[in-house]
Amino acid sequence: MDIATRPATISIVVPCFNERESLPIFLTELSRVSSLFKDSTPPPPEFEVILVDDGSTDGTLDIIKEQAKVHSEDFTVRWISFSRNFGKEAALFAGLSRASGDFVATMDADMQDPPSLLPQMYEILATEDYDSVATRRTNREGEPPIRSFFARMFYRIINRISKADIVDGARDFRLMSRPMVNAILSMPEYNRFSKGIYGWVGFKTKWLPYVNVQRVAGETKWNFFSLLLYSIDGIVAFSTVPLSVASIMGTVFCLIAFIALIFIIVRALVFGDPVQGWPSLASIIIFIGGIQLLCLGIMGQYLAKTYLETKRRPLYVIKETSDEE
Ligand code: UDP
Ligand code: MG
Repeated sequence: MDIATRPATISIVVPCFNERESLPIFLTELSRVSSLFKDSTPPPPEFEVILVDDGSTDGTLDIIKEQAKVHSEDFTVRWISFSRNFGKEAALFAGLSRASGDFVATMDADMQDPPSLLPQMYEILATEDYDSVATRRTNREGEPPIRSFFARMFYRIINRISKADIVDGARDFRLMSRPMVNAILSMPEYNRFSKGIYGWVGFKTKWLPYVNVQRVAGETKWNFFSLLLYSIDGIVAFSTVPLSVASIMGTVFCLIAFIALIFIIVRALVFGDPVQGWPSLASIIIFIGGIQLLCLGIMGQYLAKTYLETKRRPLYVIKETSDEE
């Protein structure tokens, strides 16, 4: 694409769930940043902001409509409102599928993804041979140590057992070229794990490290348990190794049981059969029972995901949108 002759369009996709306080701050900053482009690479790119209201209950949609008017001079504001909360992944997909830009950025509304990085990101895509510029945080400050520990473990495990390159500390803040966006849109899977999808589609990505910042207003929607479930989703979506582990575990235990059986029979034949070993027997039964339940659980996870995928339900339901339907 020849961005030297025609102004490129940059779409900014922003999932918003109860962000009434953060949104005005975010859009003001975004309009400041977009005006910086005016004197950069000629001709300056045009901006399109796509706000996805993910079933907010705090009147975020009213703020969106109001802000769309406030910033109508600065950039095009389009919005979509879901009929309920479908989650950030669904909101991102909805935004991406409606974005019309030559470049598309995804970013949070809470200023944890600083818009001030955009000019630098755009410069890289416009001048260097990259398809995407992504950000990764270099510190985990302001996070409970136990959470950091589990997060690191998760990244270590998933990178061992899956082909998608999933980067520790990667945020969902990135600027992508159109081919990469199209590749992501070609994956309409129900169980969406963005970090894995970005890694799976490939393309050349430049990583910008930056220091983590706290959200400007409101609260994070994540707690330890929801993160744990999310990590299991990620593993199930991008690796079938747990299933192999379950099979291997089964085989190993069969082998051990067989050897133990021979040992016990021989011992009974040689030394007679005194009634002994109740406690050890009980522990072995409980242990094997536990392993069986674990393996069933692993299979259940995959079955559940398969079940949800086969229903082919839409990822989200739109109640209202600024676009002509
Ligand atoms: N978000 C969303 N739907 C949800 C949860 C979050 O659209 O169900 C949005 C939220 O409004 C924000 C972004 O996703 O713009 C990141 O959410 P949050 O700040 O809670 O996550 P964190 O930054 O703590 O990872
Ligand atoms: Mg946040």
